[in-house]
Amino acid sequence: MQHTVRYAHMRVISKPPDRTRPILAPTPNVGPVIKGNGNMTYLCGECETSVLETVEYKQVRDLVIKCKKCGSYLDIPPSHHAR
Ligand SMILES: [Zn+2]
Repeated sequence: MQHTVRYAHMRVISKPPDRTRPILAPTPNVGPVIKGNGNMTYLCGECETSVLETVEYKQVRDLVIKCKKCGSYLDIPPSHHAR
């Protein structure tokens, strides 16, 4: 199935307190944290590395991602949720 991929930047946040939210941290120098079959690609809001590739929004909306390149903690801003 062919999708038009949309790109969005994730929001840089401060490190969440332990165990309040799941944090996915990638292995350095490997590909995106999650690669799926959706139509959204999320980029680090700091360095624009792609951290979530062709995912579905509902797969990732509650996740906190640690950028593999710059180490920023990232989530998806609520403004994206309405779309
Ligand atoms: Zn980054």
